[in-house]
Amino acid sequence: MDKVCAIFGGSRGIGRAVAQLLAQKGYRLAIIARNMEVAKATAGDLGGDHLAFSCDVSKEHDVQNTFEEMEKHLGRVNFLVNAAGINRDNLLVRTNTEDMLSQLHTNLLGSMLTCKAAVKSMIQQQGGAIVNVGSIVGLKGNSGQCVYSASKGGLIGFSRALAKEVGRKKIRVNVVAPGFVHTDMTKNLKEEHFKEIIALGRFGEPLEVAHAVVFLLESPYITGHVLVVDGGLQLIM
Ligand code: NAP
Repeated sequence: MDKVCAIFGGSRGIGRAVAQLLAQKGYRLAIIARNMEVAKATAGDLGGDHLAFSCDVSKEHDVQNTFEEMEKHLGRVNFLVNAAGINRDNLLVRTNTEDMLSQLHTNLLGSMLTCKAAVKSMIQQQGGAIVNVGSIVGLKGNSGQCVYSASKGGLIGFSRALAKEVGRKKIRVNVVAPGFVHTDMTKNLKEEHFKEIIALGRFGEPLEVAHAVVFLLESPYITGHVLVVDGGLQLIM
């Protein structure tokens, strides 16, 4: 059977690095993001038979349409990576409701919607694997990131519950929880301010996280696991 992987948030950052590794391994990929031009450019750079789709994960209708289109053009999706995410870092008392909802809708509801659609397809194929990209702050919390931490903590609870729900259907669900990684999301952070609290003394690279995502996608006896990839940040946090 073809290995078809949908990568939500696959156009940039960690999702893009996952796409690079999976393309090398012969997967057929759907690169999915809101910005179609960037998604198309990434799919093109991968140099194979990969396709780009425009979708806002927080919109159920968009997610359903995207799964229909993927099935039409790539066949059934048997691997799913949820790397779409946003942050609106601020103290809770300064966070408006719109910013709360956008983080919850993208980071948590979005992954629920894509998992729901993917699981339906995976049940019909009698198997599949999902990796959701969480965050170390979903386990530890972080000042200035109450809502973002809640979205990632929720994603971990959701993923563990779903792993129990679909394990007998031969579907595995795992989480990778990164620390600080060099992507657009962290481009305004000053790395030197954080080096002291990271055992390895540096931010990670997208490919260093992507290796963990691919490992979990391909590990047949691991499910419901949260794999922390943070350079030892949690040792100090
Ligand atoms: P990034 O470079 O900003 O990339 C985010 C990706 O998600 C882009 O492809 C973006 O494309 C897509 N995206 C955002 N909102 C979307 C939406 N509503 N619908 C569909 N796609 C959407 O971020 P990153 O650092 O790679 O983050 C990837 C994941 O890792 C996120 O879940 C993030 O929370 C998590 N994470 C990152 C770090 C870090 O230090 N970078 C640490 C821990 C966890 P469009 O903008 O075109 O939609």
